[in-house]
Amino acid sequence: MKRSHWRSIYTSGEVLQYQLNFTTASGTGLELYDIVVLATPLQASVGSGLRFRDFEPSFDELPGSYHGTVATIVHGYLNTSFFGFPDPRLFPFASVLTTETPSLFFNSVASVCPVNISAGFRRKQPQEAGVYKVFSPRSLDKPQLKTLFRSYYSAQVTEWQAYPQYGSSQGLPPVELHPNLYYLNGIEWAGSAMEMSSVAAKNIALLAYHRWNKQTDMVDQKDLMHRIKTEL
Ligand SMILES: Cc1cc2nc3c(=O)[nH]c(=O)nc-3n(C[C@H](O)[C@H](O)[C@H](O)COP(=O)(O)OP(=O)(O)OC[C@H]3O[C@@H](n4cnc5c(N)ncnc54)[C@H](O)[C@@H]3O)c2cc1C
Repeated sequence: MKRSHWRSIYTSGEVLQYQLNFTTASGTGLELYDIVVLATPLQASVGSGLRFRDFEPSFDELPGSYHGTVATIVHGYLNTSFFGFPDPRLFPFASVLTTETPSLFFNSVASVCPVNISAGFRRKQPQEAGVYKVFSPRSLDKPQLKTLFRSYYSAQVTEWQAYPQYGSSQGLPPVELHPNLYYLNGIEWAGSAMEMSSVAAKNIALLAYHRWNKQTDMVDQKDLMHRIKTEL
Protein backbone atom coordinates (compact mmCIF):
# COMPACT_ATOMS: atom_id res chain seq x y z
CA MET A 1 0.00 0.00 0.00
CA LYS A 2 1.48 3.38 -0.98
CA ARG A 3 -0.75 5.80 0.93
CA SER A 4 -3.82 5.36 3.11
CA HIS A 5 -6.16 7.44 5.22
CA TRP A 6 -9.04 6.63 7.53
CA ARG A 7 -12.23 8.64 7.87
CA SER A 8 -15.04 8.11 10.39
CA ILE A 9 -18.60 8.18 9.08
CA TYR A 10 -21.20 9.61 11.49
CA THR A 11 -24.99 9.54 11.58
CA SER A 12 -26.78 11.72 14.16
CA GLY A 13 -23.60 11.96 16.27
CA GLU A 14 -22.87 8.22 16.31
CA VAL A 15 -19.95 6.65 14.46
CA LEU A 16 -21.31 4.14 11.98
CA GLN A 17 -18.34 2.88 10.06
CA TYR A 18 -14.76 3.62 9.14
CA GLN A 19 -13.78 4.37 5.59
CA LEU A 20 -10.32 3.42 4.33
CA ASN A 21 -9.07 5.25 1.25
CA PHE A 22 -5.87 3.86 -0.19
CA THR A 23 -3.55 4.15 -3.16
CA THR A 24 -1.64 1.16 -4.49
CA ALA A 25 0.41 0.54 -7.61
CA SER A 26 -2.80 -0.53 -9.37
CA GLY A 27 -4.79 2.61 -8.46
CA THR A 28 -6.97 4.03 -5.69
CA GLY A 29 -9.53 2.14 -3.59
CA LEU A 30 -12.08 2.59 -0.83
CA GLU A 31 -13.36 0.10 1.77
CA LEU A 32 -15.76 0.31 4.75
CA TYR A 33 -15.27 -1.38 8.14
CA ASP A 34 -17.35 -1.74 11.35
CA ILE A 35 -14.37 -2.47 13.59
CA VAL A 36 -10.74 -1.48 12.97
CA VAL A 37 -7.59 -2.69 14.74
CA LEU A 38 -4.48 -0.63 13.98
CA ALA A 39 -1.47 -2.93 14.36
CA THR A 40 1.48 -0.69 13.52
CA PRO A 41 3.10 2.08 15.59
CA LEU A 42 1.51 5.50 14.98
CA GLN A 43 4.55 7.55 16.09
CA ALA A 44 5.91 9.91 13.42
CA SER A 45 9.42 8.43 13.65
CA VAL A 46 8.14 4.99 12.53
CA GLY A 47 6.24 6.45 9.58
CA SER A 48 3.25 4.15 8.95
CA GLY A 49 1.98 6.74 6.45
CA LEU A 50 -1.55 6.40 7.88
CA ARG A 51 -3.63 9.58 8.06
CA PHE A 52 -6.90 10.16 9.98
CA ARG A 53 -9.50 12.64 8.73
CA ASP A 54 -12.76 14.01 10.20
CA PHE A 55 -12.28 12.36 13.60
CA GLU A 56 -14.16 13.93 16.48
CA PRO A 57 -12.37 14.19 18.87
CA SER A 58 -9.41 14.25 16.52
CA PHE A 59 -6.11 12.51 17.14
CA ASP A 60 -2.92 12.84 15.17
CA GLU A 61 0.35 10.92 15.28
CA LEU A 62 0.97 9.74 18.83
CA PRO A 63 3.75 11.37 20.90
CA GLY A 64 7.11 9.70 21.54
CA SER A 65 9.65 8.14 19.23
CA TYR A 66 11.21 4.77 18.53
CA HIS A 67 14.77 3.71 19.16
CA GLY A 68 16.83 2.99 16.04
CA THR A 69 18.83 -0.25 15.97
CA VAL A 70 20.90 -1.51 13.06
CA ALA A 71 20.93 -5.29 12.50
CA THR A 72 23.85 -6.64 10.46
CA ILE A 73 23.74 -10.31 9.49
CA VAL A 74 27.28 -11.49 8.78
CA HIS A 75 28.44 -14.78 7.29
CA GLY A 76 32.04 -15.19 8.31
CA TYR A 77 34.70 -16.03 10.89
CA LEU A 78 34.33 -14.35 14.29
CA ASN A 79 37.47 -12.55 15.47
CA THR A 80 37.65 -14.28 18.85
CA SER A 81 40.99 -12.53 19.59
CA PHE A 82 39.03 -9.28 19.97
CA PHE A 83 37.12 -10.94 22.82
CA GLY A 84 40.28 -12.24 24.50
CA PHE A 85 40.49 -15.73 22.91
CA PRO A 86 43.35 -15.94 20.36
CA ASP A 87 42.46 -19.62 19.78
CA PRO A 88 38.89 -19.71 18.38
CA ARG A 89 38.50 -23.35 19.46
CA LEU A 90 38.57 -22.16 23.10
CA PHE A 91 35.92 -19.45 22.61
CA PRO A 92 32.99 -20.73 24.73
CA PHE A 93 30.20 -18.23 23.96
CA ALA A 94 27.31 -18.27 21.46
CA SER A 95 26.44 -14.62 22.25
CA VAL A 96 28.31 -11.56 23.46
CA LEU A 97 26.09 -8.95 25.08
CA THR A 98 27.21 -5.51 26.25
CA THR A 99 25.97 -2.79 28.58
CA GLU A 100 25.61 0.78 27.34
CA THR A 101 29.08 2.27 26.83
CA PRO A 102 29.27 5.34 24.54
CA SER A 103 32.64 4.34 23.07
CA LEU A 104 31.44 0.84 22.10
CA PHE A 105 30.24 0.57 18.49
CA PHE A 106 28.10 -2.56 18.91
CA ASN A 107 25.43 -3.79 21.37
CA SER A 108 25.58 -7.54 20.79
CA VAL A 109 27.05 -10.26 18.58
CA ALA A 110 25.25 -13.61 18.50
CA SER A 111 25.60 -16.77 16.47
CA VAL A 112 22.37 -17.49 14.56
CA CYS A 113 20.72 -20.91 14.25
CA PRO A 114 18.03 -21.94 11.76
CA VAL A 115 14.46 -21.74 13.13
CA ASN A 116 13.78 -25.37 12.21
CA ILE A 117 16.71 -27.53 13.23
CA SER A 118 17.13 -31.12 12.07
CA ALA A 119 18.00 -34.05 14.38
CA GLY A 120 21.71 -33.97 13.50
CA PHE A 121 22.02 -30.18 13.78
CA ARG A 122 25.21 -28.84 15.31
CA ARG A 123 25.84 -25.15 16.01
CA LYS A 124 28.79 -23.81 13.96
CA GLN A 125 31.97 -23.65 16.05
CA PRO A 126 33.86 -20.32 16.31
CA GLN A 127 36.73 -21.70 14.17
CA GLU A 128 34.21 -22.32 11.35
CA ALA A 129 32.43 -19.78 9.17
CA GLY A 130 29.01 -19.12 10.75
CA VAL A 131 26.13 -16.67 10.52
CA TYR A 132 26.18 -13.93 13.16
CA LYS A 133 23.66 -11.22 14.10
CA VAL A 134 25.24 -7.93 15.19
CA PHE A 135 23.11 -5.18 16.76
CA SER A 136 24.59 -1.70 16.80
CA PRO A 137 23.37 1.88 17.29
CA ARG A 138 24.70 2.93 13.86
CA SER A 139 25.73 1.15 10.63
CA LEU A 140 29.08 -0.59 10.99
CA ASP A 141 31.88 0.61 8.75
CA LYS A 142 34.46 -1.77 7.23
CA PRO A 143 37.13 -1.35 9.97
CA GLN A 144 34.46 -2.11 12.63
CA LEU A 145 33.34 -5.23 10.75
CA LYS A 146 36.98 -6.29 10.39
CA THR A 147 37.40 -5.80 14.16
CA LEU A 148 34.58 -8.25 14.90
CA PHE A 149 35.28 -10.71 12.08
CA ARG A 150 38.59 -12.12 10.84
CA SER A 151 37.02 -12.35 7.39
CA TYR A 152 33.49 -12.57 6.04
CA TYR A 153 31.67 -13.60 2.88
CA SER A 154 28.66 -11.28 3.21
CA ALA A 155 27.09 -8.62 5.45
CA GLN A 156 23.41 -7.64 5.16
CA VAL A 157 22.29 -4.46 6.91
CA THR A 158 18.76 -3.50 8.06
CA GLU A 159 17.88 -0.38 10.02
CA TRP A 160 14.93 -0.91 12.40
CA GLN A 161 12.79 1.40 14.45
CA ALA A 162 13.13 -1.32 17.04
CA TYR A 163 11.37 -0.35 20.26
CA PRO A 164 10.08 2.75 22.08
CA GLN A 165 12.49 5.32 23.46
CA TYR A 166 11.65 4.47 27.05
CA GLY A 167 11.55 6.98 29.88
CA SER A 168 10.16 6.96 33.37
CA SER A 169 7.45 9.60 32.97
CA GLN A 170 5.37 8.65 29.92
CA GLY A 171 2.15 6.65 30.23
CA LEU A 172 0.70 4.08 27.82
CA PRO A 173 -1.16 5.25 24.70
CA PRO A 174 -4.91 4.47 24.70
CA VAL A 175 -6.12 1.04 23.50
CA GLU A 176 -9.40 2.53 22.21
CA LEU A 177 -8.66 5.52 20.03
CA HIS A 178 -12.33 5.95 19.00
CA PRO A 179 -15.46 3.77 19.24
CA ASN A 180 -14.62 0.39 17.62
CA LEU A 181 -11.18 1.71 16.59
CA TYR A 182 -8.44 -0.08 18.54
CA TYR A 183 -4.68 0.42 18.75
CA LEU A 184 -2.48 -2.62 19.38
CA ASN A 185 1.06 -1.25 19.51
CA GLY A 186 0.56 0.92 22.61
CA ILE A 187 1.54 -2.20 24.59
CA GLU A 188 5.12 -1.81 23.28
CA TRP A 189 5.51 1.12 25.71
CA ALA A 190 5.12 -1.41 28.54
CA GLY A 191 7.46 -3.97 26.91
CA SER A 192 8.46 -4.64 23.30
CA ALA A 193 8.34 -8.35 22.41
CA MET A 194 6.25 -10.66 20.24
CA GLU A 195 4.49 -12.09 23.31
CA MET A 196 3.37 -8.58 24.28
CA SER A 197 1.80 -8.07 20.84
CA SER A 198 0.00 -11.43 21.21
CA VAL A 199 -1.36 -10.41 24.62
CA ALA A 200 -2.54 -7.06 23.21
CA ALA A 201 -4.16 -8.80 20.22
CA LYS A 202 -6.10 -11.20 22.45
CA ASN A 203 -7.21 -8.40 24.79
CA ILE A 204 -8.37 -6.27 21.87
CA ALA A 205 -10.27 -9.19 20.27
CA LEU A 206 -12.12 -9.77 23.57
CA LEU A 207 -12.75 -6.07 24.13
CA ALA A 208 -14.00 -5.54 20.56
CA TYR A 209 -16.33 -8.54 20.90
CA HIS A 210 -17.82 -7.35 24.21
CA ARG A 211 -18.17 -3.74 23.03
CA TRP A 212 -19.82 -4.83 19.76
CA ASN A 213 -22.31 -7.06 21.63
CA LYS A 214 -22.86 -4.37 24.26
CA GLN A 215 -21.75 -6.71 27.07
CA THR A 216 -20.58 -3.79 29.21
CA ASP A 217 -20.46 -5.93 32.37
CA MET A 218 -17.54 -7.82 30.75
CA VAL A 219 -15.46 -4.62 30.32
CA ASP A 220 -13.38 -3.22 33.22
CA GLN A 221 -14.82 -5.79 35.63
CA LYS A 222 -14.32 -4.40 39.12
CA ASP A 223 -13.76 -7.70 40.94
CA LEU A 224 -11.67 -9.32 38.17
CA MET A 225 -8.29 -8.90 39.89
CA HIS A 226 -9.73 -10.38 43.08
CA ARG A 227 -11.22 -13.37 41.21
CA ILE A 228 -7.97 -14.04 39.32
CA LYS A 229 -5.97 -13.93 42.56
CA THR A 230 -8.26 -16.29 44.43
CA GLU A 231 -9.13 -18.80 41.73
CA LEU A 232 -6.19 -21.15 42.47
C1 LIG B 1 15.99 -6.02 15.48
C2 LIG B 1 14.83 -6.51 16.33
C3 LIG B 1 14.97 -7.65 17.11
C4 LIG B 1 13.90 -8.13 17.88
N1 LIG B 1 14.07 -9.28 18.62
C5 LIG B 1 13.02 -9.78 19.30
C6 LIG B 1 13.15 -11.01 19.99
O1 LIG B 1 14.20 -11.65 20.00
N2 LIG B 1 12.06 -11.50 20.68
C7 LIG B 1 10.87 -10.82 20.68
O2 LIG B 1 9.90 -11.31 21.28
N3 LIG B 1 10.72 -9.64 20.02
C8 LIG B 1 11.76 -9.11 19.33
N4 LIG B 1 11.62 -7.94 18.66
C9 LIG B 1 10.35 -7.22 18.77
C10 LIG B 1 9.31 -7.77 17.83
O3 LIG B 1 9.82 -7.82 16.53
C11 LIG B 1 8.09 -6.84 17.91
O4 LIG B 1 7.63 -6.76 19.24
C12 LIG B 1 6.96 -7.35 17.04
O5 LIG B 1 7.40 -7.49 15.70
C13 LIG B 1 5.79 -6.38 17.07
O6 LIG B 1 4.78 -6.95 16.26
P1 LIG B 1 3.66 -6.08 15.60
O7 LIG B 1 2.84 -7.00 14.74
O8 LIG B 1 2.95 -5.31 16.67
O9 LIG B 1 4.41 -4.98 14.70
P2 LIG B 1 5.31 -5.17 13.40
O10 LIG B 1 5.96 -6.52 13.37
O11 LIG B 1 6.17 -3.94 13.34
O12 LIG B 1 4.24 -5.16 12.23
C14 LIG B 1 3.62 -3.96 11.77
C15 LIG B 1 3.25 -4.23 10.31
O13 LIG B 1 2.44 -3.15 9.83
C16 LIG B 1 2.84 -2.89 8.51
N5 LIG B 1 2.41 -1.51 8.16
C17 LIG B 1 2.95 -0.34 8.55
N6 LIG B 1 2.28 0.70 8.02
C18 LIG B 1 1.28 0.18 7.27
C19 LIG B 1 0.24 0.74 6.46
N7 LIG B 1 0.10 2.06 6.33
N8 LIG B 1 -0.60 -0.09 5.81
C20 LIG B 1 -0.46 -1.45 5.94
N9 LIG B 1 0.49 -2.04 6.69
C21 LIG B 1 1.36 -1.23 7.35
C22 LIG B 1 4.34 -3.05 8.52
O14 LIG B 1 4.83 -3.25 7.21
C23 LIG B 1 4.47 -4.30 9.39
O15 LIG B 1 4.41 -5.48 8.63
C24 LIG B 1 12.68 -7.44 17.88
C25 LIG B 1 12.54 -6.28 17.09
C26 LIG B 1 13.60 -5.83 16.33
C27 LIG B 1 13.43 -4.60 15.48
